[in-house]
Amino acid sequence: MTTISANLQAVKDRIAVACAAAHRDPATVALLAVSKTWPAAYIREAAAVGQRAFGENYVQEALAKLAELSDLELQWHFIGPLQSNKTRSVAEIFSWVHSVERLKIAERLSEQRPGHLPQLNVCVQVNVSGEESKSGCAPAEAPTLCRAVAALPRLRLRGLMAIPEPGLANEENSALARRRFALLSEMRDALVAEGMELDTLSMGMSHDLEAAIMEGATIVRIGTAIFGERLYTK
Ligand SMILES: *Cc1c(COP(=O)(O)O)cnc(C)c1O
Repeated sequence: MTTISANLQAVKDRIAVACAAAHRDPATVALLAVSKTWPAAYIREAAAVGQRAFGENYVQEALAKLAELSDLELQWHFIGPLQSNKTRSVAEIFSWVHSVERLKIAERLSEQRPGHLPQLNVCVQVNVSGEESKSGCAPAEAPTLCRAVAALPRLRLRGLMAIPEPGLANEENSALARRRFALLSEMRDALVAEGMELDTLSMGMSHDLEAAIMEGATIVRIGTAIFGERLYTK
């Protein structure tokens, strides 16, 4: 077994243990393999053992890998900060965008989503950590943004995404991580209560997937625990 396939299995085992602790069916938690900075060959290895959904943060990098992997049926999720001059490529090649934090970006994605493709699945990213974090819309603005995004014709609003501030991995801080995730979960529940059909909570990474699953994550976004420590960041 290669390292990547062993790591994937170890992550699935962690998900299963966390689901058991949370009295949840593991089938309700999807694993998104975050392949940013890693070469197409690593994605191919993960795909060979059945992984289909991959997350990327950088448009140029994703385009290059997609071209190399065009023989595979993969599902691509854009999870990084998105500038308006990059929305067209994202609308054309990705199935999901987890990081919508402004209406203008959502409008462009909707306008640019090709007609022959299904609606683009999106999550609104919420800043659940206040001043500790820069990305995501403010919790107070999220309901208004969600209503506007849900009305765009070529997007399908699936739910909410969050990245808590770093440094919440140790035991003392994992209670705080859970509070961050619980906030996102409560926000989703409130939107569902007003009639929105939101089935997704995209939350939990390599170091905090257990806390996220306890609070209702339906997609965990895992990079390091599958592919190893990233050698560089952009
Ligand atoms: C890089 C990244 C991840 C994966 O983080 P790991 O700690 O490597 O598991 C998840 N979500 C987002 C938005 C990321 O940018």
